[in-house]
Amino acid sequence: MIARKVDSLINLMTLEEKIGQLTLFTSDWATTGPTIRDTYKADIQKGLCGNIFNAYTAAYTRDLQKVAVEQTRMKIPLLFGYDVIHGYKTIFPIPLGEAASWDLAAIEKSARVAATEATAAGLHWTFAPMVDIARDPRWGRIMEGAGEDTYLGSLIAAARVKGIQGENFNGTNTMLACVKHFAAYGAAQAGRDYHTVDMSERVLRETFLPPYKAAIDAGAHTVMTSFNELDGVPATGNVHLLHDILRDEWKFKGLVVTDYTSINEMIPHGVVANEKEAGELALNAGVDMDMQGAVYYNHLAQSVKEGKVNVAQIDQSVRYVLRIKYLLGLFEDPYRYSNVEREKSTILSKENQDAARDVSRKSIVLLKNDRNTLPIAKTGRTIAVIGPLADNKSELIGAWSGAGEPKDCVTLLQGIRAKAGGGKVEYAKGCTLDTMERTGFKAAVDLAKRSDIIVVAVGEKANMSGEAASRSMIGLPGVQMELVQQLVATGKPVVVVLMNGRPLVFPWIADNAAAIVETWFLGTQAGNAIADVLFGDYNPSGKLPITFPRNEGQIPIFYNMKYTGRPFDANNKYTSKYLDVPNTPQYPFGFGLSYTTFGYSDIKINKNTFTPREDLKISVTVTNTGKRDGEEVVQLYVRDLVGSVTRPVKELKGFQKIMLKAGESKEVTFTLTANDLKFYNRQMQWTYEPGDFDIFVGTNSADVKTTRVKLIE
Ligand code: BGC
Repeated sequence: MIARKVDSLINLMTLEEKIGQLTLFTSDWATTGPTIRDTYKADIQKGLCGNIFNAYTAAYTRDLQKVAVEQTRMKIPLLFGYDVIHGYKTIFPIPLGEAASWDLAAIEKSARVAATEATAAGLHWTFAPMVDIARDPRWGRIMEGAGEDTYLGSLIAAARVKGIQGENFNGTNTMLACVKHFAAYGAAQAGRDYHTVDMSERVLRETFLPPYKAAIDAGAHTVMTSFNELDGVPATGNVHLLHDILRDEWKFKGLVVTDYTSINEMIPHGVVANEKEAGELALNAGVDMDMQGAVYYNHLAQSVKEGKVNVAQIDQSVRYVLRIKYLLGLFEDPYRYSNVEREKSTILSKENQDAARDVSRKSIVLLKNDRNTLPIAKTGRTIAVIGPLADNKSELIGAWSGAGEPKDCVTLLQGIRAKAGGGKVEYAKGCTLDTMERTGFKAAVDLAKRSDIIVVAVGEKANMSGEAASRSMIGLPGVQMELVQQLVATGKPVVVVLMNGRPLVFPWIADNAAAIVETWFLGTQAGNAIADVLFGDYNPSGKLPITFPRNEGQIPIFYNMKYTGRPFDANNKYTSKYLDVPNTPQYPFGFGLSYTTFGYSDIKINKNTFTPREDLKISVTVTNTGKRDGEEVVQLYVRDLVGSVTRPVKELKGFQKIMLKAGESKEVTFTLTANDLKFYNRQMQWTYEPGDFDIFVGTNSADVKTTRVKLIE
């Protein structure tokens, strides 16, 4: 039905109009790179630009849409895209932070709210989820993904797609998801953004590709190519990625869009000499839509004339675009998403704020809590709230914060004041985030001395992570560390609240602070959510979705590394280690404390040997051994002891987040089959191999119970 309508439209279109449907220009409201064109209205009128991004609000999108449907020959509605990454106006935690919740329902809900707000502002398409596996915290865009693990990342990718797209587009509160950045953008050498990516096909397929596949299997209608090269070929001209894998193997039926000017960037990459060639390479590789590069716009018609690309290929790309516009119902009602009334009632609603607060507190990770420093009593204490991020609205929404505005944020100081009205709360900034200015130290230290407990909020600026925001040293910038040191020197208990877009390196704080709370950038409700945790109204349950290194020299460091032929042995110099730092991280993947404690029984299994046709049941009894109710993420890992190729020391294969009342025990059971033990064997076949497997269950990737099972044919 749709296919027929699409084809009949295509039959009526000129080549220029077809190319227009493959063209996406920014509205100049916001830019993420060099803007190539600053006029687009005339292009829309001529049918030369069929898609716009960075235009939002119901009124503005309506105006633009009017031009397309009233003033063009073909009257094809525009598609409006935008980076709605972790919220539109109501900003949720940065994606890396949300991943720390290990709560797929919460993550889906966050994406749902974001889509509800964005669609009310006229948007049809979000450039999310970003599902790039990343293992280098120097890379600023690590904040935008789900961390280092393929299994967790794949589940989160699917949850985000479901949240964004909902069940269908019958209503007006769901939008198109765009899986990005295809592929392996997160593996930039040395963590420098846009840098070269080079990896084996095995690592690509086993570690990096599954989250994209999971997002596509969850129904994502669009895919964005990445900026990087892979094995010498830029992703935007990469036939292996876009044709062989995406279309042939995965049967992807949606639209492929480039990243911002990434067709043009194949010139500096050095695989084409000019824009025309770049466009030909991209189109022939399977890129449908050109984001902002104006390469298709300027050169594709000529390439057709020269026979360098064929019209059938262009028609196929146009088909993908028009199909999506039909799916969204834009041909029936081009204005259906641009609804000023709905925009007013939906955006920043109480309901959305409550959802943000809920997801935010679930994303907080308690890294340290000596002598039960936390939670803080709400009354009878004098609380010093210190630090450049303590009463700072501008950084809380983090990078990629859509149309979010700092003015809508609740600061930590506000959150604490709202909660600890019975106590005395005083504030001193202490220092800035990134200058060497120390004049505020004295007031901060004086305040600390006359207080019972100190909450100090330190970290990064929002724009120190995100795109083009790599850092080579990932400690606290400026003099923040000195400030914390002076506060600790007062002898008062110091609670360090971290706000940051990546794992940071802070060994001194890890050793000397009384408590450490990792809050990432939590968004609009940050202050309330952190206060919920600090005062015990919410018992923290987050677990790190990424390893925190001890120092930058350990990078890349992730939990599922390989053993090597000389595994670490403290007594043998000639084993794999450093002279100056342990191999272990500061905080391992999956780590996070609670205000209560959990005990794990030994692992029970239903059989010691199992066949590919049988289920292996793995159970542990988890007991809340403390005095508060709390949630625990019970984690299951596996190691294949002998394979035709080497296998990681551990791989996450399951997890369950459970609530346990104080004193309560629950049995948690995981089911594994041989299918869960598959990998690419020496012949690059996706298969399992019989033999021994270690099974681990525990509270984080480093603290586990172990048993061994055998898979037999
Ligand atoms: C980013 C993409 C983003 C696009 C549009 C690019 O610079 O890499 O992730 O979707 O800009 O804003």
